[in-house]
Amino acid sequence: MALKIKIAIIGQSNFAADVLELLLERSNIQIVGVFTIPDKGSREDILATTATIHNIPVFKFASWRRKGIALPEVLEQYKSVGATLNVLPFCSQFIPMEVIDGAVLGSICYHPSILPRHRGASAISWTLIEGDEVAGFSIFWADDGLDTGPLLLTRQTNLEPTDTLDTIYKRFLYPEGVKAMGVAVDMVASGTAPKIIQAEVGATYDPAMFKTENQIINLQAPAEKIWNFVRGLDSVPGAIATALHDNGSEEQIRLFGAHLYSGGPVSNGKVLRLRGLTKPAWIHSGGLLIEGTDGVFVNIRRIKRGTKVISASEWFNQAEDQSITDFSEDELAKRTLLAGIWKAILKDEIDSSTDFFASGAGSMDVVRLVEEVKDAFDVPLQNEQVFMAPVFEEFFSELVRFLRLGSACSGDQQLEFEAFTLRANKREIRVPTQLFINGEFVDAEAQRTLEIVNPTTEEVLCKVACASATDVDKAVQAAHSAFYGPWKQITPRQRGQMMLNLADLMERNKEELATIESVDSGAVYTLALKTHVGMSIEAWRYFAGWCDKIQGNTIPVNPARPNNVLTFTRKEPIGVCGLITPWNYPLMMLSWKMAACIAAGNTCLIKPAQTCPLTALKFAELTVQAGFPAGVINVLPGKGSDAGQAVADHKLVRKLGFTGSTPIGKHIMKSCADSNLKKCSLELGGKSPLIIFADCDLDKAVRHGMSSVFFNKGENCIAAGRLFVEDRIHDEFIRRVLKDLRTMTIGDPLDRATAHGPQNHKAHFDKLLEFCKRGVDEGAKLVYGGCRVPHLKGYFFTPTVFTNVTDDMFIAQEESFGPIMIISKFSGSDVDSLMQRANRTEYGLASGVFTKDIGKALSFADNIEAGTVFVNVYNKTDVAAPFGGFKQSGYGKDLGHEALNEYLKTKCVTVEY
Ligand code: NAP
Repeated sequence: MALKIKIAIIGQSNFAADVLELLLERSNIQIVGVFTIPDKGSREDILATTATIHNIPVFKFASWRRKGIALPEVLEQYKSVGATLNVLPFCSQFIPMEVIDGAVLGSICYHPSILPRHRGASAISWTLIEGDEVAGFSIFWADDGLDTGPLLLTRQTNLEPTDTLDTIYKRFLYPEGVKAMGVAVDMVASGTAPKIIQAEVGATYDPAMFKTENQIINLQAPAEKIWNFVRGLDSVPGAIATALHDNGSEEQIRLFGAHLYSGGPVSNGKVLRLRGLTKPAWIHSGGLLIEGTDGVFVNIRRIKRGTKVISASEWFNQAEDQSITDFSEDELAKRTLLAGIWKAILKDEIDSSTDFFASGAGSMDVVRLVEEVKDAFDVPLQNEQVFMAPVFEEFFSELVRFLRLGSACSGDQQLEFEAFTLRANKREIRVPTQLFINGEFVDAEAQRTLEIVNPTTEEVLCKVACASATDVDKAVQAAHSAFYGPWKQITPRQRGQMMLNLADLMERNKEELATIESVDSGAVYTLALKTHVGMSIEAWRYFAGWCDKIQGNTIPVNPARPNNVLTFTRKEPIGVCGLITPWNYPLMMLSWKMAACIAAGNTCLIKPAQTCPLTALKFAELTVQAGFPAGVINVLPGKGSDAGQAVADHKLVRKLGFTGSTPIGKHIMKSCADSNLKKCSLELGGKSPLIIFADCDLDKAVRHGMSSVFFNKGENCIAAGRLFVEDRIHDEFIRRVLKDLRTMTIGDPLDRATAHGPQNHKAHFDKLLEFCKRGVDEGAKLVYGGCRVPHLKGYFFTPTVFTNVTDDMFIAQEESFGPIMIISKFSGSDVDSLMQRANRTEYGLASGVFTKDIGKALSFADNIEAGTVFVNVYNKTDVAAPFGGFKQSGYGKDLGHEALNEYLKTKCVTVEY
């Protein structure tokens, strides 16, 4: 039997451990000893751990020699294992020649460059810095020089433009290197290993890049040199540059994520001065742009400031120094406790600069740290905060910040804005009155304002900034930058969490929001709480759940034989979306649209109705607290003909979600087509039929019939615009409706007993008077109301009932959008004609039927031309159920899964293999 080769492995790290595992698979080899570095604290090198598992003797030497002389006790231990071959997979120590020559078969060593190029400790970095076209490694016979011994084998690969030190190591030098070490040992074992003398031609000896002075980048160089230098040190240790601040101070930073940039100069960047660079560098939405001496640009995606790595585009949004230095005794005691927690997790000594992740912590350790901090200090940190502050001192500062200010701080800045104080409902509520653009409240460019009127008192409540096309453009640019910048970095699950945070904040502020809505739009407070605000919160929660469930399909398509093919679809956000909403449910319309839009991953700007934008502005304030990055959500009160039109016309807006009247919807659709063919969805007017058969539960039909018309004072898009009541119950139905109307409480919407508040605004109120006059002129019978509520200030319109309405009348065809019940009679013997009458309208938003006959009900559902059908109920909408009209009531859906698709685009990918 052939004698086994006895191998001593000298080295460290995962690379050496993997080589050990590989060699253990060979039967002609015996690993007689592993020589590695001493433990760091209580953490031993993975090579030692691996060797111990396999019962291989492990030796840990801090050093093999002193003053150039081999240490006798070390030599003795080495000799004791009787190695015939030394294998040095990755060795950072000086190994004495007594050891190198001590094995009869010699010593073979791995080096990560194609020798003789790039001798020295930083070979991979220099391969990139020098712009080599190939990278590779060598396995050579160690001798007494620095990487000069004869070559056993080399391997190489082309360098890709996207390669960095990290990628070339991970994709080639490591995996192929481990395998090649196995091949080299096999060649030695079979006596076929060559010893090729290294040529001196082309040999380079490169400086060690672990020395700080060598890591400083020369920015007065062509772009390619700058790019290569940064990627040669990416991600460890990072190229050093110095930022020059306007106040004269300097800051050392490290650059990562470089690439040559073909986009040319940027138009909307901000200047950052860097030492050694004669031209300014630019912070823009894609990073930091540096111009090389050849006029070509390099873009830097990430910058390390202190111990934190940030997106370069975020440079001006980051506070320069957030450290706390004035700790109390109690805080210092907590520091000791915290260090104990870190020590227990990392199994290592902790000092201020200990980096949680560099010390080997993984994701489970993050969870453990967060939980232990919660237990010990009752501070609810999030996992992200460990990633944001991975160094002990930073993490401790973050903890102290929480302890001092409570969880509300979490590093967020106090939002400043001009406000008016609403004193109502036993509350004082600060309501912002400026435009909300790019995370800040700002004045309108032209300083114009809108007067906001309280419909209950007809008095001006406050003035609110009124956006112009210029302001819209600013908001679109902010949304555009956010979409391609910070918002893209946020994972779908984080997005969902932000939406849930927002919903929680809305819940906590629901009384404030409902009070504002009530005062601003005239909504009855109890309804505002339940529906305007309640359903808004539900919409945010519902769509938050979709964020991480947006997925495409795999599709079987015909392959071109003999090849196979994989086709799949991706659902992607559209980009910047414009949202335009009406005044009837201000916050709810905003939420229905925006929650789906944001869940899909878009950024947006909303122009709420000019008459009641206040809840939208209060909402904007909450989005900052919820953690949405600047620019993701922008709120611009303004006029439809000006700001609204600018949204529809803007070329960077790729989708428009509109709710409003049919005429404006048609106009908007033209603008969408003319500007940039932006996708649009239109939720428009309605004239929804409600049919009440004689066989219904009459009590229920009257109750729901009333609310189908008078809910939210008729300012309800799905309001039943026309009731068809079977002749057999017609008079009784009217008698009961009138009885209920006479006892309806009309008055201050904030009063909990009120059932009917004022109409939204004067123009609308006047239109309702006009609508009723037209009905009377046409010959319909006005049996109740049709006028202002006597003796009440405010836009209070008496709930109204018309009977004897024939199909050709204006009031039978057109929407009033107010508390006006329009009743027509029908004969139960002619249901076919009834269906034709119900469908004889250009609208198709909603519909309803009351009958105990399931056949009649389903036949109605089959034949009615409307997006929503209610059977034995009315107004029963839900955030999970799709909502939207047919015919001239528009197209596209709000709510439900279908709404998500309104804000997504489908990409189809086909791969042949
Ligand atoms: P509207 O007059 O059509 O206004 C809707 C929104 O569009 C408002 O913000 C308005 O701004 C804006 N706007 C007006 N002209 C514009 C233009 N040229 N370009 C861009 N935006 C423009 O409707 P409304 O009177 O506010 O609301 C009542 C209508 O909405 C009713 O017909 C109702 O049925 C419908 N609605 C439908 C649904 C549904 O889901 N289908 C829901 C609620 C309401 P201003 O504030 O300056 O007018």
